[in-house]
Amino acid sequence: MKCHTPGCSGEHEARAISHAVIYQERSFVVHDVPAEVCPECGEAVLAEETTMYLELLLRRKGRGKGTAFPFEI
Ligand SMILES: [Zn+2]
Repeated sequence: MKCHTPGCSGEHEARAISHAVIYQERSFVVHDVPAEVCPECGEAVLAEETTMYLELLLRRKGRGKGTAFPFEI
């Protein structure tokens, strides 16, 4: 996938990243999130379904329910 950053000619590659999310005024760092990362400028793009999934996880975590997280939070 081509990088979206203007002036950058990098090609994004699939990698697992640590992603920081703010949810209900708390910040969570989720590790091993699958993303497309540009080796040139470091821009990371998460798939829409990944973003939705993270939101779901955080919502569950916010309620203090559910212990089976595929991502470490
Ligand atoms: Zn780039």
